[in-house]
Amino acid sequence: MEENSLNEKEDIKKSLNFIEQIIEEDLQNGKNENRVHTRFPPEPNGYLHIGHAKSICLNYGLAKRYNGKMNLRFDDTNPAKEETEYVEAIKEDVKWLGADWEDREFYASDYFEQLYQWAIVLIKKGFAYVCELNAEQIAEMKGTPTRPGTASPYRERATEENLMLFARMRAGEFEENTKILRAKIDMESPNMQMRDPILYRIIKKEHHRTGNKWCIYPMYDFAHGQSDYIEGITHSICTLEFEVHRPLYNWFLEKLVKTPYKPRQIEFARLNLSYTVMSKRKLLELVQKNYVNGWTDPRMPTISGLRRRGYTPEAIRMFAEKVGIAKRDNLIDLGLLEFCIREDLNKKAQRAMAVMNPLKVVITNYDDTLTEYLEAINNPEDVEAGTHDVPFSKILYIEQEDFMETPPKKYFRLSPGNEVRLRYAYFIKCNEVVKDENNQILEIHCTYDPASKGGKSPDGRKVKSTIHWVSQQHAIKAEARLYDRLFLAEVPDKTEDGTDYKANLNPDSLIIKDCYVEPYLRNAKSGDKFQFERIAYFCVDPESNEDKLIFNRTVTLKDTWAKINNNE
Ligand code: ATP
Ligand code: MG
Repeated sequence: MEENSLNEKEDIKKSLNFIEQIIEEDLQNGKNENRVHTRFPPEPNGYLHIGHAKSICLNYGLAKRYNGKMNLRFDDTNPAKEETEYVEAIKEDVKWLGADWEDREFYASDYFEQLYQWAIVLIKKGFAYVCELNAEQIAEMKGTPTRPGTASPYRERATEENLMLFARMRAGEFEENTKILRAKIDMESPNMQMRDPILYRIIKKEHHRTGNKWCIYPMYDFAHGQSDYIEGITHSICTLEFEVHRPLYNWFLEKLVKTPYKPRQIEFARLNLSYTVMSKRKLLELVQKNYVNGWTDPRMPTISGLRRRGYTPEAIRMFAEKVGIAKRDNLIDLGLLEFCIREDLNKKAQRAMAVMNPLKVVITNYDDTLTEYLEAINNPEDVEAGTHDVPFSKILYIEQEDFMETPPKKYFRLSPGNEVRLRYAYFIKCNEVVKDENNQILEIHCTYDPASKGGKSPDGRKVKSTIHWVSQQHAIKAEARLYDRLFLAEVPDKTEDGTDYKANLNPDSLIIKDCYVEPYLRNAKSGDKFQFERIAYFCVDPESNEDKLIFNRTVTLKDTWAKINNNE
């Protein structure tokens, strides 16, 4: 009995990820009045990507699981790179993913005055000084992990002088890069972060929220931990590279606040995806140099790009769940993300017929004035989704690849003398191939069996293949944007000849072509999702309109890359 319950506890513990284990321990110890409060802290210097989505799902998921809260905080400490456009895009994306920050939309810039006051506290306590070294000198004197740093000649400035200079920095009396405020910690610390890190620098640029009120701005490191503290964050979850910053964040709070409450920082491995770059600097470069069509290009790993491509929040959340939380950096296969969207769209997407590479088929024994409306199932995975009508007439389009004049063995699709089923329609048999003077196929002539209406065998005879089609006269010509992976290399940053990641761009990541879709799709709206039977999942692009329907290929029906790789 005793042993059983112990094992049970152990099992539950094992099924928790390591962050959940930490939180549960904190709750058991009655820390922070049993509050769980997380935050998602983007810097508004670009659009959010799938890695951020992972972090949002984690932070929001923990808040929900433990009856807590999640804040949205913009870490907007650098006016040189940040823009309101990004703030708006970030909010839209977080909301779309389903994470709710309620009324807690915060900005590090809201805390500029408090941070400034805290800097003064550090100066007064002898823990900060105004330094006049330039960036190169500071870097040089910082030392290396194995060689201690050298003290700045300004390190021992008197407190009064530091206070006066810092006030004058704020007043705008000095030019950029002439003075900085540094913490006075330990130039010999084995942790480079502790070697008198910079707290404030002069930047004479307008800030997207505070305008020209400030010309000195706190460093991210001086703002981040204190912002967490101000907001009452209990668990500050961040990626592994911040592990070495943790002692610094703790040092600041130790010197500045007396409460027993302190945010607890926990690091996890950032998401890396194969065939994808995620650095914001690189994503910005792809946008600015027009390698893609903006941040929302469906080939981008941005949340807005994925949305436009046809991804759903459910699929992204499923992906985040499956990836799990790791303590060590790893590489996740892009195929997993594609698997998740296939799973979700299989349940949700309406089926429809479309022909990408048309081959004209004439049904010679069909009345050329007739149109029949045949019933097609909207989604075999969802009976509630109902049915719709597909028009059938004498002249049809099928895919070129569904016909072969001289087929190899085991080719069961249409060929001379062979019979196939047209989905939802009839059995047809090919009798004649019509060619031009260059021996190119112009059209094929078939007969249909009127007794096979609905695609049902009239007498038990079997056909080995069912192909899709559209009625030429009723079909709508549409644009298909066939998206593929943006990079050809599993790790785009690695190039054989030492050139940069752009050398690995996939020149065929977008192929635009005409296609023919059944008329049922005429009123499809931006964002509507379909499975074009036997082809792929598609989503209506926002640029689509009455004159021109545009479909973005979300994902193929099967993992074609896996097949290619296996065959190699
Ligand atoms: P930058 O290089 O500009 O700092 P960043 O990717 O860290 O880029 P932030 O806006 O600072 O961008 O990130 C916001 C939050 O998202 C941070 O908490 C960060 O840890 C998390 N995050 C960013 N990239 C990933 C990723 N690939 N996987 C998981 N979380 C991530
Ligand atoms: Mg960051």
